[in-house]
Amino acid sequence: MFSRFLVLVFWMAVSAVVGYWYAQIYGALVGALLITFIANLKNLWRGQKISEWLRHSTVQDPPVLGGLWGDLIDRLRRIMNDQIKQTESHQQRLQDFLSAIQASPNGVVLLDPEGRIEWCNLTAAQHLGFDSKRDLMQHVVHLVRDPVFNKYFSQENHEGEVIIEGRSASFLKSVKLSVQLHAYGENRQLLLTRDVTALAQADAMRRDFVANVSHEIRTPLTVLSGFIETLQTLNLNQDERTKFLELMETQAGRMQGLVNDLLILSQLEGSPMPQMTETFSLVDLMSPVESEARGLSQTHFSILEAPQILKFEAPPTWSLIGSRQEIYSAASNLVNNAVRYTPAGGQVDCVWSQLPDQRLQFSVQDTGPGISTEHLPRLTERFYRVDRSRSRESGGTGLGLAITKHVMQRHGGELKIESELGKGSKFILIFPASRTSLNHQ
Ligand code: ADP
Repeated sequence: MFSRFLVLVFWMAVSAVVGYWYAQIYGALVGALLITFIANLKNLWRGQKISEWLRHSTVQDPPVLGGLWGDLIDRLRRIMNDQIKQTESHQQRLQDFLSAIQASPNGVVLLDPEGRIEWCNLTAAQHLGFDSKRDLMQHVVHLVRDPVFNKYFSQENHEGEVIIEGRSASFLKSVKLSVQLHAYGENRQLLLTRDVTALAQADAMRRDFVANVSHEIRTPLTVLSGFIETLQTLNLNQDERTKFLELMETQAGRMQGLVNDLLILSQLEGSPMPQMTETFSLVDLMSPVESEARGLSQTHFSILEAPQILKFEAPPTWSLIGSRQEIYSAASNLVNNAVRYTPAGGQVDCVWSQLPDQRLQFSVQDTGPGISTEHLPRLTERFYRVDRSRSRESGGTGLGLAITKHVMQRHGGELKIESELGKGSKFILIFPASRTSLNHQ
């Protein structure tokens, strides 16, 4: 800095001496002023170049100037480079943050103080039917046209969540959304959405299940307490007493059956998947299934009535790997159903066979009433019955096929049902090859 000042003074002195030589004191003054003027002009030109650079050019393309101005440009360039790097890093962080919110399974909408949409992720757009670009700066209540949401939005206090119908809901498919508002920043709001359809369905199923169980237990209980009251109040003879006690036994048996099936279901749901350690032959499995079915058939249809024809075929060469108790209950449910729903004189064929892809199948085919197509997909729902009174009369609980399906899923297998009204039914259990083994005799 000082050296530049000395250079300027030197040139002023030189031009003053030259001016003095030409025209004494006036020449010296003009010479010194001329040098000052030229120096100012040069500075003006350099300042103009820097101003133009700052206005139009990129940081990487500075004007080439020496001296003090060159230093100034260099420092400016460094400050600007630092700022650019900082802005880039902030932008990158913002992008990462927005990508994280985009990846969230929950919907996020940022609202300005007037309730207009500033930004929303794709999940929120899908939940609420927004177009994440076109609907920006639209008022949220104009787009979410749900009275529950509108009431919630207009409240002062947004504690808790509200459940509204999702935009993709249709007549056949219900979509439930949990929506919650949180205040942030200066009067801004964060709108969070969560798909709670599965939770709502599970809740509805639980309520239905409790209602069904209560109903199923209440009916025999009412009958039982009626009989007890009759026995206590009326003076019955021995025959009447015996008849009443038999009816009471039937109702108690019904309740027992129901409680047993409920216990089996809860055990299936609460226990770990069956191990691969238990192996049992089909013959061992089927022997109690067969004697139970024959006993059931005899109690249902007396020999005098045309008896049912029951056929059992289980190849001695094959074994299954899994829970014997569970597979027993799956197989006996199908065989007992076939016996219970097939009229006197009908036939039930229970056959094990191997499929070409090494899987083992157990099919139970009957000549019973058959089931019309619209019922087939719902048969494995708990307490679903085609003929309610028929099921109850024959001691059904409405849980047998639900248990069977569950057992098959736990063993990696499947339950198939083929039936036509008036043409009998065929229930098939298919076990994966991994759950079968050949007996070494
Ligand atoms: P349930 O204890 O009532 O028999 P299940 O779950 O075992 O309950 O069966 C559900 C329903 O499927 C039964 O109520 C019955 O209407 C129908 N069903 C099951 N097996 C047969 C069959 N072999 N023939 C005709 N209908 C059947």
